[in-house]
Formats: sequence, C-alpha cells, structure tokens
Amino acid sequence: MNYEPVIGLEVHAQLLTDSKIFCGCSTRFGAEPNANTCPVCIGLPGVLPVLNRKVVEFALRAGLATHCEITRASRLARKNYFYPDLPKGYQISQYELPICEHGYIDIEVSGATKRVRLTRIHMEEDAGKNIHDQHGDSSLVDLNRAGVPLLEIVSEPDLRSADEAVSYLKTLRAIVQFLGVCDGNMEEGSFRCDANVSVRPAGSDRLGTKIEIKNLNSFKAIEKAIAFEIERQSDVLSGGGQLVQETRLWDEHREETRSMRSKESAHDYRYFPDPDLLPLVINADWIAEVRAGLPELPAARKARFMQGYQLPAYEAELLTSRKDIADYFEEAVTAHANAKAVANWIVGDLFRVLKEQKLDEEFYIDRWPVAAERLGELVRLIDQGKISGKIAKTVFAEMLSSGKSPQQIVSDKGLEQVSDRSSIEIEIDRVLAANGKQVEQYKSGNDKIFGYLVGQVMKATGGKANPQTVNNLLRAKLQ
Ligand SMILES: [Zn+2]
Repeated sequence: MNYEPVIGLEVHAQLLTDSKIFCGCSTRFGAEPNANTCPVCIGLPGVLPVLNRKVVEFALRAGLATHCEITRASRLARKNYFYPDLPKGYQISQYELPICEHGYIDIEVSGATKRVRLTRIHMEEDAGKNIHDQHGDSSLVDLNRAGVPLLEIVSEPDLRSADEAVSYLKTLRAIVQFLGVCDGNMEEGSFRCDANVSVRPAGSDRLGTKIEIKNLNSFKAIEKAIAFEIERQSDVLSGGGQLVQETRLWDEHREETRSMRSKESAHDYRYFPDPDLLPLVINADWIAEVRAGLPELPAARKARFMQGYQLPAYEAELLTSRKDIADYFEEAVTAHANAKAVANWIVGDLFRVLKEQKLDEEFYIDRWPVAAERLGELVRLIDQGKISGKIAKTVFAEMLSSGKSPQQIVSDKGLEQVSDRSSIEIEIDRVLAANGKQVEQYKSGNDKIFGYLVGQVMKATGGKANPQTVNNLLRAKLQ
C-alpha cells in the first residue's frame, strides 16, 4: 500500500528583545552561566512577572505578516510540568486565547505556490538548559535562557513531504528575519522546530497516529528526520504493526529517530490562566500602528528584485531567502550597478564558497569571506574591461585567501587585461607560425579550428588578452 505523510510543524522563534519576557534580565547569548538571572526568571517565591511590551509588539508583527487574526483580549496561562531547568514548576505560555490565530504562509514547492495554514502564534517563556556529561556524574543547570521570550508558531498539518517542510521553514524564517523579530539562527537555537508526522493510506482523509519529533535545529536534520519517520511509520503499518502516539528524538549520528516518551496530552499540563498576569487587551490603534510599520517582507522584496533589477524568479528567490543575503546583494549593487552580474556571482561563486566553508547556515555576514562592496568592485573591473571573466575567477579566489581588494590584487599580480592591439598581434603571429597545420585545416573549411587558435593565443597571454580583440584580430589575419 502507498502511504501519504501528513506533517505539521511547531516552530519556536526566539525574539530579538534586549530583555526577557517577564523581567529586565538580559537575553544576550553566550554570557557566563546563570549571569542573566533574577528572582523573577528563576521563579523565587513572592515575585511578580511583568509582561514585556516589546514581546507583544513582535507577536503582533509576526501575526500581521502571516495574515492572522489578532485576539483583542488574549490571556497568559500556566503550563505545569516539573523539570530541573524550570524551577517554577510551570512555564508561562498561552493556551486558549493565543494572541494570533488562523493565518497562512504561501510557500514555493517545485515551481508552484502552496498555502500552508497557521493554527496559532502564541507567546511564551523559554526554559533553562540542563548540561550533562561535563562535570563528572552530576548535571548542571544554566538558567540564562529561562524567561527568554519565544513565539511558538504552529502550522496546520498541511505539509506532505520533507521538502515541503523545509520550504515552509525557510519561508517562515525569512519572514521573522525580515520583520526583525528573530535572527533565525538555528545553530544557536533561536529558530528551532518540532515536527508532528503521521502517515495514512494514500487517498484517505483520516489522520494517522501522530508522532512528534522534538528539537530539530538544522534544515538537514529536519529533512532527514521527517524522511526517516515517514519510512519507519510506513514500514510498521505495512508489516501489520501499530503505531503509538509518542515523542521521539532525532539521533544525528545514527541518523534515526528514537523514542523519548509517550506523548502528553494538553490535560497532562493542567493549563490554567496565570493569576499574576491580567488579560492582555490590545486596542485597534496599536494593531493599526504595527501594521503601518511592517517592513518589506520577503515576497515583496522578491517581486521588487524581479521588476526593479530584472532578475529571473529563481535568482530573486535565492537572494531573498534570507534578509542578510538580500541586504548583501543590494549593497553590492550600490557599489556597482550591474544587478544581473552581481546576482550571478552571489548565487554561483559566493554560495559555493559559503557551503564549502560551512558558513551557509550562519548569520554572521561579517564573517563572510568577501564584503559586498568588494564583490561589486570585482564586477566593475570586468565591466570596465580591466579583467576578463576568466581572470576574475582567479582574482575572486585570491580575495578569499588574502582578503585584499580586487583592484589591489589585479595591480599586484599584473592581471590587467591586455587590449593593446600590437602586443596581441605579436602573440597571434607566433601562434600562427607555430600551428601551420591547423591554419591549413582552417583555411580548407574546418571552422572549429578557430576556437582552438583563440585558445592558444589566450594561453600565450596568460589569459589576459581581451578575448574580443583576439577574435577580431585573428579573424582578420586568417582572411
Ligand atoms: Zn530575570
């Protein structure tokens, strides 16, 4: 039997606020363990949480950008469970009455647009972090992350493959990045995802048993874990077995999911409204103000790249897949206004290098090997005829290793293109004298030989001759 996967995703996006959701502690990543803590976020008795207004504003931004309805009076709730990294014994989250509901995101799947519905977006606080295997046989707890604000963005089970899931996540990540509410850094855990995966006989409209895969934090892990689960579940069902609702973890080394615990239901958490926090009332003026202040979003920027810079859809899509890349592109184009060529260098050569250096999933554009302005400068040298496209590849490689500017490299290494007719003519005469047989063949009608002779002249000039000049002069000489 053929099985059809049904996938829904829960994304946790860490918000780019300076302070935590219910206290004034810093949210900075990488501080000394437990440095960013206070009685509120570590849950000492008798303290009162105060909701960070910026968190609400960010939630509104995310909700409006994804076509959600905004709940005018939403509520914060306690989600009760016991865990060492959650000293209060409950997490403040939203349950009934989340701040945003019923939105959608359009994604591109093999050339077509697919609409993925959002169930809800709600605000919550993060828990701390347990550290094992570092200190003999004891475990350590770091509460710097406790109380850091998150948006949980929950999709309907509208996704049908691992590819669609990845496309959805990339689109969502671009949106929160463009909104400035989350940096999207998966490596540092500020954009992470749980996947709910089930399979059902193809064509059925009933849902199968839902398995949750927790804490996926790279696109590769997401893709592999979902693909693994689809196959595992299909195998179990084909073999006549039954699936139980459970939570599984992705084991990166063994490339398989394994069972973590049987899945809790909402009633296991005994959710109830947090008595320390008043219902959150959002007035229409605030919504209108946030809506008016929304920045240009990825889809709009893609359309602008296609119209304004005459880029094909494919390139425009890649360049707007992340805000930092889109900004990089526009900065390079500001340095030299040849958008098509700049786009080709980014999508081709630069992306290849980022992949090789494993920088493609990072968000530190300042760690990228070539500054945007320098890339623009490189393209300018080509357009001015100072270097050939081929020499430009050499210059680019040198930019990576030395960090020098393209003009500097061209001057230092004497790579300037030779357009001077007389010196090219000298090389052509030499090549023709040394290739008498080929010249004969060309004259007796073998046109292919022409390319060979051009190649010989280019080689003789170390690739520096202007190819157009070589072509013209050679053709004249052979007549
Ligand atoms: Zn605090």
